[in-house]
Amino acid sequence: MGFPAIRHGTQDDSMFAAYDSKLFIAGEWRTGTGERLPVENPATGEIIGHIAAASADEVDAAVSAARAAFRPWAKLAPKERSSALHRLGEVVAARADAMALIMTSEQGKPLNEARGEILKLAEACHFYAEEAERVHGEIVPGATTDHESMVIREPIGVVGAITPWNYPAELIGWKLCGALAAGCTIVIKPAELTPFTALAIAEACVEAKIPAGVVNVVTGKGSIVGQALVEHRDIDKIAFTGSSAVGLHIQRSTPVVRRMSLELGGNCPLVVAPSADLDAAVKGAARRAFRNMGQICIAVNRIYVARPHYEAFLAKLKTAVERLTIGNGLDKPDADLGAMASAEPLNKTREHLADALDKGARLVSGGSAPDGEAFSRGHFFRPTVLADCTHEMKVMTEETFGPLVGVAPFDTLDEAADLANDTPYGLASYVYARDVNEVRALSLRLDYGNVAVNNVDAGVMNAPYGGRKQSGVGYEHGREGMLEYMHFKHIRIRYDEAR
Ligand code: NAD
Repeated sequence: MGFPAIRHGTQDDSMFAAYDSKLFIAGEWRTGTGERLPVENPATGEIIGHIAAASADEVDAAVSAARAAFRPWAKLAPKERSSALHRLGEVVAARADAMALIMTSEQGKPLNEARGEILKLAEACHFYAEEAERVHGEIVPGATTDHESMVIREPIGVVGAITPWNYPAELIGWKLCGALAAGCTIVIKPAELTPFTALAIAEACVEAKIPAGVVNVVTGKGSIVGQALVEHRDIDKIAFTGSSAVGLHIQRSTPVVRRMSLELGGNCPLVVAPSADLDAAVKGAARRAFRNMGQICIAVNRIYVARPHYEAFLAKLKTAVERLTIGNGLDKPDADLGAMASAEPLNKTREHLADALDKGARLVSGGSAPDGEAFSRGHFFRPTVLADCTHEMKVMTEETFGPLVGVAPFDTLDEAADLANDTPYGLASYVYARDVNEVRALSLRLDYGNVAVNNVDAGVMNAPYGGRKQSGVGYEHGREGMLEYMHFKHIRIRYDEAR
């Protein structure tokens, strides 16, 4: 098809030159005609390549391609869709090193972590390949025995997927795999900061022989290209992951009634209960507050600690956080933390830090960029812990999306639950407790779509993952993540004879 395959395994100019201004539409690579936009390596500030902003005609061509591919794809036997997704999983896993290199170059997370994310994308392909074969229906007895109701499931149609930059492969993967397993086709608009990972996924789809038009990728700015997808009348479902503000805007600006899933922001609490294993809680907090530089929707933003443990917890957290290593993710593949993805989340982190210090917070650790030439041109910041925080401070009430966490003491479990629920968000929450009654009381009281107890992995592939309140509607992961791409159809049949 005339697209130069990227050279896998090394970072060099050809890697991104091959993707320059490319759109993936109807199984073909097209050179986009819109404005060329630079893509930066956030660890060095270097421009690593360019994308083209898809024009309205190009967005339309992608939607038309997905529409044309929909019926043939939906009519395939589930086993064939399943085989295609298994093939995709194999191709992605085989390309994990090269795809990780692409991701780290444009997003900043350390190479090993990026590789782990690519392997999780492969896992999603295999998980939904299995689910594709288990699309069952139901036979429901009628009120009289000459009637019977069949409830079957049908794919929704063409999906417009809009994704952020923090997990550039997984957040595409959950949508792509759930949609394709259900029998839908998809047009993906990745974040403008991390478009090359999306184009690498499209390239893997070609190698996996996913039929032309089933997966399409258009690049460009959200406010223009993303908005064009949202406003396109021939899209049956929008699957969006991103900020609550943009999610609400999308909900308000959709021109037709249609299905929509919105996976939005978070402001996630961790409660360290009186019976907690303190060392385990510290380990969990250090990981979930700072992994991916805190740029995770389910990052721990705020920690409430039972007062008897408060100072000990802070001392241990300071030690754990100061052991975290930071580096350019390409040079230091095994660093704990890489660069932040852009200046925007870094500036917000600084703003939330200054706000909290102004209002009386105590700096326990971090608070500035790391020293040294290696950090001078990229978007780096040291993991930062603040104590004595209150809900007057932004760090406790808004999503920072950076390496900053606020800590406060509590006296009763009721108080901890009230503080944890005192937010417009409802994505994930965390509890460390060994007393079964504390575990039960907190996990039932917390008004969140996900509660992780004595662990910090709130989202796993085989269980539904979604938010409440301003954190969104709909689910990804698990069987529910595929059902989001399906209609239920009720077929009520009257037979000539009663049974
Ligand atoms: P964002 O909302 O700025 O952008 C997300 C995507 O939407 C990007 O592709 C962007 O180009 C596009 N977009 C922007 N304006 C648009 C418009 N008017 N119409 C259509 N598309 C538009 O978010 P971000 O900064 O890329 O990502 C960070 C946010 O994502 C955080 O708030 C984070 O919590 C959230 N997030 C949520 C989850 C989840 O599962 N709930 C997962 C990851 C990230």
